[in-house]
Amino acid sequence: MAPQNKNAVPFLSFFHIFVPAKRKIMSRLRFDAVESAFSKKPLEVQDPGRPDEFFACKVFDKSKMFKYLPADVYSKMLNVIEGGESLDNSIIDSVAEGMKKWAIDSGATHYTHWFSPLTGTTAEKHDAFIDLDGKGGVIENFSGKLLTQQEPDASSFPNGGIRSTFEARGYSAWDPTSPAFLMGNTLCIPTIFVAYTGEALDYKAPLLKSISAVDKAATEVCRLFDKSVHKVYSYLGWEQEYFLIDEDLYMARPDLILTGRTLMGHESAKNQQLDDHYFGAIPERVAAFMKDLEIEALKLGIPAKTCHNETAPNQFELAPIYEQCNLAVDHNMILMSMMKDVARRHGFRVLLHEKPFNGVNGSGKHCNWSLGTDTGVQLMAPGKSDKDNLRFITFVVNTLSAIYRHNGLLKASVMSAANAHRLGGAEAPPAIISSFLGSEISSVLDHMETTDNFVKLLSKRELKLDIPQIPELLIDNTDRNRTSPFAFTGNRFEFRAVGAEANCAPAMIALNTAVAEQLEMFRDDVDALVRKGEEKEFAIVKVLRKYIKYCKPVRFDGNGYSDEWKDEAIKRGLDCESSTPLIFDNYLTKETIAMFRKENVMTESELKARNEIKWSTYTKKIQIEARVMGDLALNHIIPIATKYQSSLLDNIIKMETVLGKEEGDRLSKENIATVKEIAEHVADIRKLVDELINRRKVANKIESARKRAIAYHDGIAPMLEEIRQRIDALELMVDDQQWTLPKYRELLFF
Ligand code: ADP
Ligand code: MG
Repeated sequence: MAPQNKNAVPFLSFFHIFVPAKRKIMSRLRFDAVESAFSKKPLEVQDPGRPDEFFACKVFDKSKMFKYLPADVYSKMLNVIEGGESLDNSIIDSVAEGMKKWAIDSGATHYTHWFSPLTGTTAEKHDAFIDLDGKGGVIENFSGKLLTQQEPDASSFPNGGIRSTFEARGYSAWDPTSPAFLMGNTLCIPTIFVAYTGEALDYKAPLLKSISAVDKAATEVCRLFDKSVHKVYSYLGWEQEYFLIDEDLYMARPDLILTGRTLMGHESAKNQQLDDHYFGAIPERVAAFMKDLEIEALKLGIPAKTCHNETAPNQFELAPIYEQCNLAVDHNMILMSMMKDVARRHGFRVLLHEKPFNGVNGSGKHCNWSLGTDTGVQLMAPGKSDKDNLRFITFVVNTLSAIYRHNGLLKASVMSAANAHRLGGAEAPPAIISSFLGSEISSVLDHMETTDNFVKLLSKRELKLDIPQIPELLIDNTDRNRTSPFAFTGNRFEFRAVGAEANCAPAMIALNTAVAEQLEMFRDDVDALVRKGEEKEFAIVKVLRKYIKYCKPVRFDGNGYSDEWKDEAIKRGLDCESSTPLIFDNYLTKETIAMFRKENVMTESELKARNEIKWSTYTKKIQIEARVMGDLALNHIIPIATKYQSSLLDNIIKMETVLGKEEGDRLSKENIATVKEIAEHVADIRKLVDELINRRKVANKIESARKRAIAYHDGIAPMLEEIRQRIDALELMVDDQQWTLPKYRELLFF
């Protein structure tokens, strides 16, 4: 039997035996929810047939284009998708026609431009395929113009002041490199979202620019080694972690509904100490959900590969095979919205919040990142020859140098109010960006740094490195330091600080752009030496040695969770700031602005606007949490606690009446102490909630978005923890039968 049911048995039997009718009067919601959660059966998932037959059936991919587009249009589209050519206006009507036909054949009735506004979720505006024909009938309406451009009301999306809200003009434009897909009965067309002034209002536009910046710079560096390289792709393989919570239990927790995390709740007696969950047998209901999720993902062309349990109870992970960065980012956004629907079908809710439960592992989204050439070479993987390995070392060292130079920015790219709970927490990467290389690569770099004749030219085509052979397969050799936020894992770097709920794009934009800038500097340095008459290979090694020295502070193979590392990181000059609003400042430093401008990814005004949004989003999140905390404390917790307190007082008085004052009081000593303790906690909570409200009023008057966020971070967020401590203490004291909110043990071990 599945382990979760094993956990369930003691609860169920306990309730059934000891609390039969009484609980119906008290705290109905919690116990009804628990009972309902335990009684659910797994949903039957229809077998969809062989994956190769239904994979991408909901995607207008190459095979559908081949079928639905005229031959010449199809081949032009291939040039756009694979060759990076721009879209030829003369074919868009024909593409729209084919796309519409496929969509309608597949049951679609509506279409939408699908984009990622800076809110972090995805947005859609649905239009029907049909229009009135003016003669009382309808005509099908979907032209090339409607495919390539749309005008959503930009005023309802955050723009950080780039556009004034009264002129609601921004437009979304088709990104033909990410295929259109079907969600329900809607054809979704991936688009970028920009203001009329040209500034990006979304993540995709700068992401595409960063991909092209790193392509250009990396291609130039590749050509030092191999003239046949003409394009470099950036790849992303994400691993999505999430929690599953039974829907009824979720509905009984207003904090989960409104903030995505539990603002209160004492740790369960059985917690993560028992790591039996990891790779444990997946309970039947979850197994059915996962099967369904995997099928839906495959139908949408998301190459889902691994689904398994994570470290924490009720925590799971889905990872697809890696893809080109742009597509992978879209696929992750599609998955995040689709999995919520699938979960509902199964009576679950998905929690993507980075830290839904205190004392339990948070959820991240490891972003596995690498570069690869159009000639099929993985640039972050060692090769067969010494020349391949020199190229491999070149890309590793340049990546490290980029990470070092922009370590603060990289941290800013993954920071949010929610991820702040995770980064720096006991189990997550710390709020310091460093890189783990593993002993093999580390010793190669150390050796190279200190050896003069590192490279020998045997002939024009062949060179010899003064190192023992780098094993071709490093993947299993890297000892997988789990505490590193940016770890080399054999053929890629794994950026682990990204939050579960985040769009991967900001992290990928920062990474691609920083690496592009560094590769350009590297190539310039090499070219300068060659111009001075240095042999190319010697020039490469010379420049590499310079950067190996340069990036040394960012290399750290030790335990990233230790306190010694924090002290050491400060000494090394790494960014150790832990306040989220201040971390965002990294987007506006001279170096960051210069980098984004030089690489043509974002302008200074775009960066400023984005930061306004980051700060105000941060404020809003804490503001909502503070409101919910205040309401729950006053309307749920205090009434429950006082009710229980009254029942104790009642008992104390009755004891006195029956046994006499002296004897009654002697025997009621503990109860009297509890009454007092509850009174103290209740008084504290009232005082703290009052203070919380006052501080909010003061903070809300602050004009500057940055200063307001700082006020929320410094003055309000810590109070949530203070109030929580009192509530969690009360949870342990108050009669379990009277507590109305589902407890951790119920939420996490249904
Ligand atoms: P783990 O959980 O052990 O880190 P997984 O197998 O769950 O590993 O996930 C690894 C992810 O890395 C997958 O998405 C995989 O496709 C991706 N990946 C593997 N090689 C590369 C690469 N060269 N570039 C980018 N991503 C990669
Ligand atoms: Mg991983």
